[in-house]
Amino acid sequence: MREIKPNERKIVMQSKTMEDESGKCGHLSRRSFLKLTSTAAAAGVFGESLFGSLVYADALGKEKRDKMTPDEILAALKRGNKNFSKGLRTSRNYLNEQKATAKGQFPAAVVLSCIDSRAPAEVIMDLGIGDIFNARVAGNIANDDILGSMEFACKVAGAKVVLVMGHTGCGAIKGAIDNVELGNLTGLLAKIKPAVKATTFKGELSSKNAAYVNAVAQKNVELTMTDIRKKSPVLAELESKGMIKIAGSMYNLDTATMNFFA
Ligand SMILES: [Zn+2]
Repeated sequence: MREIKPNERKIVMQSKTMEDESGKCGHLSRRSFLKLTSTAAAAGVFGESLFGSLVYADALGKEKRDKMTPDEILAALKRGNKNFSKGLRTSRNYLNEQKATAKGQFPAAVVLSCIDSRAPAEVIMDLGIGDIFNARVAGNIANDDILGSMEFACKVAGAKVVLVMGHTGCGAIKGAIDNVELGNLTGLLAKIKPAVKATTFKGELSSKNAAYVNAVAQKNVELTMTDIRKKSPVLAELESKGMIKIAGSMYNLDTATMNFFA
């Protein structure tokens, strides 16, 4: 095993080192793990928030959240995903976060994302308990109940960012393209179909064409953002006053990275 330099904090978190050590990802011996953790402690890695001055270390406190602008919160979400995509993560104690949030919550954002098991918002943005409201529905569409939830999140509870997150390879998008009919899913997919119609794409218009599926998914995020502004005067007003920001993003399942857009 090669020497770990103190400033190489990535190494502590990444499975590549585990591969180096054992030839098999995730199978680090206890002795090697202790060696790594002590090196990390010496380098000041554990216990140090990767968010720097924003410090989500335990849970986001009201004062801390209220001081942040919507742009600063968006920047923190971007940084969180950057950490995740590089194999880094904030060292956190979930029980501390649970205790810190038990009597109240002051989340910074509300994220609307797909139910897809591979796109858990908190994990892929390196967030903890109490950091965000998390609304999930297949195809990340905004129906009346989701809009009501977002209005609660922003107007009542003080969240400052509404982030709609689509993702590549989305099964709901493929279902809408293929006109799948199944129980209540039929009605849900009908809400995605406007995105299928609105997508301009040169190439094979098929659910087997990943580029086309992703283009529809991106359009679906854009239309959902439009829907939010159109169907929620409450959120539209908060945005026009600069109190919140409504943003969109696409999460790439292959690269672990999120692409943010306004
Ligand atoms: Zn999906």
